[in-house]
Amino acid sequence: MSDTLTGKIALVTGGSTGIGLATAKRFVDEGAYVWITGRRQAELDKAVAEIGRNVRAVTGDIANLDDLDRLYALIAQEQGRLDILVANAGTVELRPTALADAEHFDKTFGTNARGTYFTVQKALPLFVDGGSIVLVSSGMNVKGFPAYGTYAGTKAAIRSFARTWAAEFKDQGIRVNVLSPGVIETPIIDVQFTTPEAVEAGLAMFKSMIPLGRLGRPEEMANAVYYLASDQSSYTTGFELVADGGVTEI
Ligand code: NAD
Repeated sequence: MSDTLTGKIALVTGGSTGIGLATAKRFVDEGAYVWITGRRQAELDKAVAEIGRNVRAVTGDIANLDDLDRLYALIAQEQGRLDILVANAGTVELRPTALADAEHFDKTFGTNARGTYFTVQKALPLFVDGGSIVLVSSGMNVKGFPAYGTYAGTKAAIRSFARTWAAEFKDQGIRVNVLSPGVIETPIIDVQFTTPEAVEAGLAMFKSMIPLGRLGRPEEMANAVYYLASDQSSYTTGFELVADGGVTEI
């Protein structure tokens, strides 16, 4: 049993920033070849420069099934297989339920739930020799915070998908696990709020609820994803690893 990723081929969606970027870097450090995807070419170019080696970026929207087909056709053509998939791309818009419209609902579910579902479904033929799938949910999947209804609902869906998929894919030698981060210092924090003051207030509110007294770092999430993706967790499937400074567990 190896505890490194030497020779493994991995895909990290939303891999140009935050948790996805930290994970892609960690995988390359562990010996993997990593594909990253995202919608913004400039962010992907920056990430490729930062990772430096054994990485390939492909632009694409996980909510767009043609983009997913194009991505997997390219991986099939160039490398013929995948060993690890980290379905990390996700989006959040704060919207009190009374103010939510269909566009907001469809965007959040279209990316986080439907997008994650088809990211995994369409990857299956590439797992020719078993492998490991890690879905990125959120501690929000067990919490009730005003204005996070659609986001939390999609993250609960992701947690549920992992149970079904762990059962369905086991005969293909594929393990499926979930990472549920708490509040982590990444770009997704700022986009939730409309002003710098609102960011400050939001962070203060979150910090006051975190038993470990601080936000998490993307590298700490990469450690957790690495554990789930690698043979270190070889006897673990359908599991949710919570890395949230204690918010949901204490
Ligand atoms: P981030 O904004 O840096 O990363 C999200 C990535 O997903 C970005 O690169 C973004 O471009 C990409 N993305 C969004 N929509 C996409 C789409 N339709 N197609 C392709 N790519 C798309 O923030 P992050 O915190 O690193 O988020 C990564 C994951 O972690 C997300 O699923 C998020 O919900 C989850 N998460 C984050 C936190 C946190 O506090 N940062 C907490 C819990 C869960």
